[in-house]
Amino acid sequence: MVLADRGHRYGVWLFDLGLACCAVEFVVAAATDAWDEVDGPAVQPWAERARDADVLVVSGTVTPVTAAAVRRAYEQMREPRVVVSFGACAASGGPYWDSYAVTAGVDQVVPVDCYVPGCPPRPEALVEAVRELLAGRA
Ligand code: SF4
Repeated sequence: MVLADRGHRYGVWLFDLGLACCAVEFVVAAATDAWDEVDGPAVQPWAERARDADVLVVSGTVTPVTAAAVRRAYEQMREPRVVVSFGACAASGGPYWDSYAVTAGVDQVVPVDCYVPGCPPRPEALVEAVRELLAGRA
């Protein structure tokens, strides 16, 4: 798997684009020791910039305004780029799906490799998603 291959050389860095309340769950996930139990390369959940990241986590509600920031972060990332949609809002607009001010999912803006469901998802679900990505199952 491309992500695992790269990670064996450099580690796997996550960058969170926190757009709404799911970002709080990302912070909890990032602080957990559970990353130490993920097989394979070391996972670093706190990339400072998108350009240093292997995995872009979009947590929260994408809007026509914030979509530009999502696109910019994606374009700044190094290859190969992996995108995780974290939570119902990122996947589809969530509870705000029919609002004129909400984009119906981050996949309208950038390609998504993995969807983590929930409103909000549990922090453990992000660890599991990255585990699956590294194993080539997601
Ligand atoms: S999915 Fe739920 S918890 Fe997450 S950003 Fe949307 S409303 Fe907030």
